[in-house]
Amino acid sequence: AQAELKNFVGKATLTADGKEVELFCNIGTPKDAKKAIECDGEGIGLFRSEFLFMDKPHLPTEDEQFEAYKEAVETMSGKTVIIRTLDIGGDKEIPYMNLEKEENPFLGYRAVRYCLANTDIYKTQLRGILRASAFGTVKIMVPLVTCVDEIRAVKALVEECKMELTNEGISFDPSIQVGCMIETAAASLIADMLAKEADFFSIGTNDLTQYTMSVDRGNAKVAYLYSAFQPAVLRSIKNIIAAANEAGIPVGMCGEAAADPLMIPLLISFGLDEYSVNPVLVLTARAIISKWSKADADALAEKVLSLSTEKEIVELLKASAK
Ligand code: PEP
Ligand code: MG
Repeated sequence: AQAELKNFVGKATLTADGKEVELFCNIGTPKDAKKAIECDGEGIGLFRSEFLFMDKPHLPTEDEQFEAYKEAVETMSGKTVIIRTLDIGGDKEIPYMNLEKEENPFLGYRAVRYCLANTDIYKTQLRGILRASAFGTVKIMVPLVTCVDEIRAVKALVEECKMELTNEGISFDPSIQVGCMIETAAASLIADMLAKEADFFSIGTNDLTQYTMSVDRGNAKVAYLYSAFQPAVLRSIKNIIAAANEAGIPVGMCGEAAADPLMIPLLISFGLDEYSVNPVLVLTARAIISKWSKADADALAEKVLSLSTEKEIVELLKASAK
């Protein structure tokens, strides 16, 4: 199998009937960008920025953030780098931020909610990202969006930062795109509305599964419910992709499901444009994508969507695997 994978090095990612999709990588540090290149990733679909806030005892400065983003952007030499803004809270704690303990941290004060309440901290990050955008192809991605107001507020802050940088004579990409992670049930239900505001979507199945199934993603006792193959989650994914396709904006997936060989035919059928995976899974994902035509994927997806239990769905997908 390793030998077969070698054939996919340096190739475009194509379905069996020749449709090209993008195969990007998820990374957590600028150094990981090198890994993405070594593994033949075509871009970065999710650059988790939390590391910058976790690996020191204080908030990172604008310059520190700029340098880190620029390092990743330069490593990718022109290939897309999607930087996700600070996604703290929930399972991602940052000690010096002194966030109060909450009864329901996953439903609380976190991610874009925290950033919009602390615009000084958020603007420092947005300025760092904007400055890095002068060195390649950078996109901004907003985590945990639940309503249109949030993406509008972020876009307004991005505009504010752009004005400041212009006045200071500092370069940035003036047409930088701002996209939404779709990882909450609310965002999925209003995907058509969000698609009018966002330049792109990226589906975060790790959280989308948690918030759709009402299952804490880290709780072993209810882990049996935590599956992206639950009919509720699959319907949600299908609707999100359809909304993006209809609005004419690109839609990717950066949750773990994007690399799952059983999920890939469904994503081909639904019309996903970009798959973002752990670097080590790039070639496997490219190989699996190459085995499925739209027609075969559609036939399988239709059967899958008619099934009402996760068990039957997974069994059918396993039996149909190529
Ligand atoms: C997700 O929720 O699917 C995701 C990609 O983000 P994270 O795992 O960092 O929450
Ligand atoms: Mg998430």
